[in-house]
Amino acid sequence: MTAARPSHWPMTLFPVIADCLQIGGIPLTRLAARIGQTPFYAYDRRLLDERMALLRRTLPSAIELHYAVKANPMPALVQHMAGLVDGLDVASLGELRVALDTGMAPARISFAGPGKRPPELIAAIAAGITLNLESAHELETVARLGREQRRRPRVAMRINPDFELKASGMKMGGGPKPFGVDAEQAPALLQRIGELELDFQGFHIFTGSQNLRAAAIVETHDRTFELALRLATDAPGPVRSLNIGGGFGIPYFPGDTPLDLQPIAANLERWLPTVKERLPQARVVLELGRYLVGEAGLYVAEVVDRKVSRGHTFLITNGGLHHHLAVSGNFGQVVRKNYPVVVGNKVVGTEREVVTVVGPLCTPLDILADRMDLAKADIGDLIVVFQSGAYGLTASPTAFLSHQACVEVLV
Ligand SMILES: *Cc1c(COP(=O)(O)O)cnc(C)c1O
Repeated sequence: MTAARPSHWPMTLFPVIADCLQIGGIPLTRLAARIGQTPFYAYDRRLLDERMALLRRTLPSAIELHYAVKANPMPALVQHMAGLVDGLDVASLGELRVALDTGMAPARISFAGPGKRPPELIAAIAAGITLNLESAHELETVARLGREQRRRPRVAMRINPDFELKASGMKMGGGPKPFGVDAEQAPALLQRIGELELDFQGFHIFTGSQNLRAAAIVETHDRTFELALRLATDAPGPVRSLNIGGGFGIPYFPGDTPLDLQPIAANLERWLPTVKERLPQARVVLELGRYLVGEAGLYVAEVVDRKVSRGHTFLITNGGLHHHLAVSGNFGQVVRKNYPVVVGNKVVGTEREVVTVVGPLCTPLDILADRMDLAKADIGDLIVVFQSGAYGLTASPTAFLSHQACVEVLV
């Protein structure tokens, strides 16, 4: 007997009425008419609210939640998130502008990322946001630019820890990395922050992304708190902010199951008294991108052709990897796996078929779904890719093949 093939975790966040997916209470077909074009991304603000509410009622109330804008920088969405979270994390001058436009207090905005250039640093200092320092050179540059503006830059030190986030989709810490300052080098740089009289805020320790294993995140938090407490003894002032990163994953592929928040919440609860005692001024911050917005978004493309090639049915759509690189398997995947996909206006359908859904690009990489069991679709039907609210449009090569631009809506 062969083992049952793993299936996708059921996608139940968007209701289905009369076999048609509903987004924000609007049937998909009517939403498409309202938008006036396919392809598009649609984000559901009620689902954003619900995800934040889940975190607020599950995690200790003392934990601050920040939104990492790079997961989805659509201005209307960032504005909505700004009303729900305690802070925003940006990674470029463009994202900083979007964050400031929301009205979020500058003291609650932080800026991370290697290779920040002088215009970005100058803007950050002028805005009064917190710069997460990534290198010795950046530290010296920030101090010089601060003197030129006669302002005292707010800085935190991003640490490249001496451990890795296990079972993480993308490792961003541990070993040699372009991100942050190696933990071993931190004491010398902390001393330098003191000498240069920068406004020291604390530490930023971000280790990875897309982790679905609570036990691995718990272990990472343990190592992160231990490291922060160790480094704090060399800090040039009280630690006011301890950003312990994020990395919470969402289920994309067959066999993936949702992250269990309970053990993570219990472990944070366990650590808070120690943090309070040793770092009495420190706010503990989780910065999350994908987990906050990923499940609230859909990518929608329209079937423009169907053809059978040597017995294999292809649906050809007007959307593809130029809008959604990740669904094609080319954004950090080693072996391509299907995202959850349905025919949005015929979710169950009357007939089913196994098809490959592709985009219009002249490259074999342009696959939305490979040999998936879907409702039988005709030209004009709408293919929906779930789990598309994070690292979608802005993480895609939109100029490739010079097709019509994609639209994004917040519903
Ligand atoms: C990308 C990034 C995040 C968000 O990661 P997610 O996996 O989307 O939660 C948070 N912090 C920093 C510094 C990042 O670079």
